[in-house]
Amino acid sequence: MSSVTQNLLDIKNALPEHVTLIAVSKTKPNALLQEAYDAGQRDFGENYVQELTDKHAALPKDIHWHFIGHLQSNKVKYIAPFVHLIHGVDSLKLLQEINKQAQKNNRVIHCLLQIFIAQEETKFGLSFEECEELLNSEIFKQLNNVSINGFMAMASNTDDDTQIRKEFQSLKKFYEKMKVQHSQFSILSFGMSSDYNIAVEEGSTMVRIGSAIFGERDYSG
Ligand SMILES: *Cc1c(COP(=O)(O)O)cnc(C)c1O
Repeated sequence: MSSVTQNLLDIKNALPEHVTLIAVSKTKPNALLQEAYDAGQRDFGENYVQELTDKHAALPKDIHWHFIGHLQSNKVKYIAPFVHLIHGVDSLKLLQEINKQAQKNNRVIHCLLQIFIAQEETKFGLSFEECEELLNSEIFKQLNNVSINGFMAMASNTDDDTQIRKEFQSLKKFYEKMKVQHSQFSILSFGMSSDYNIAVEEGSTMVRIGSAIFGERDYSG
């Protein structure tokens, strides 16, 4: 068995049944994605629009493509026809554009709001307050071609497990509070190669795992 297949099956077997595994395949060649596909994987995550559309064209049509990167409004149109879930939505303006492109394609696009929980200042995402404001806004309520199904987040890039756990717990608590008024919420997307075990313990329903499946990424080429 190749290492990708082995890694994938090991991780899959260790995850509880209610947790969806997204295989994060950014920068990886189609042959490796095909290998994961042949081992039964159907959910893949990509960060770049051009790379995602190329891979969508080349690979089997029953793949669920997750956009997990930072999406620019002017690029929504390229992925709107086929994207399964957009994880990183962090503004009303972007959501309005997604709604417009979804309408053009006669579909509803499922999205997650990206929430900022880390200590670093560089990461994208909404604060809890900004998120509530967005969900309560009149503009949002009139967007019929997008469905917000939950939240996505990234924990601080640290070896301090206690800190990571605290961040995940704060998101889970906020999610439960928001779910009372938003019954369509069903997804909490957090946990990557380095912290998915903690994430699952703290209520993640969707983990995004790249290097632990496909190996370290090489950005030099
Ligand atoms: C790259 C990426 C991942 C996967 O990271 P690994 O550490 O390789 O598992 C998960 N989520 C997002 C948003 C990413 O950009």
